Amino acid sequence: MFKGPLPIRINHRRLVSDNAKLEGTIPLERFERLIELLDNSAGDVHARLEFRRGYKRRGLVVGNLEASVSMICQNCMQPATVEVSAEVRLLIVNSETALAALAEEDDGIICLEDQVLLVDLLEDELILSMPMVGRHAEGECAVKDVTASRPVPVVPVSPTKETYRPFAGLADLTEGLFKKH
Ligand SMILES: [Zn+2]
Repeated sequence: MFKGPLPIRINHRRLVSDNAKLEGTIPLERFERLIELLDNSAGDVHARLEFRRGYKRRGLVVGNLEASVSMICQNCMQPATVEVSAEVRLLIVNSETALAALAEEDDGIICLEDQVLLVDLLEDELILSMPMVGRHAEGECAVKDVTASRPVPVVPVSPTKETYRPFAGLADLTEGLFKKH
């Protein structure tokens, strides 16, 4: 089993025929689309991957990814460490036709070349496992009353004064617009 920093490029065909197992780290900064969702790109993704043959002897990569990432907490607007983990189970195919032919429960990825960037193989799986918004873990946030910053319910439970505040604000805005004319 290989440990340590993982190679930037891999030959998936060779790894599959070797039944290779890879375990190691990939710098978070290499996941260019993922880090757009983050507060910063410091840290590593820890990957544990096995390559073998799957359905119709296609290449199959199975494993998991883990990372501690920094996101801006939407309660207190301060950086928060968020633990992300993703399961990987991808059949490697070489065309869109082959991808479309996979069983519904199978996920696949198109690799046109034998050599691919390891990040390209894994990035979507990690992005799909990201929380929709960053938040501190319970008890770690500076904003104690978390409910106060939650979105206003679509159907107000009771017509309290609080509920109507947005409309009051809108009225002010409208008045402001009229004054300009
Ligand atoms: Zn927070």
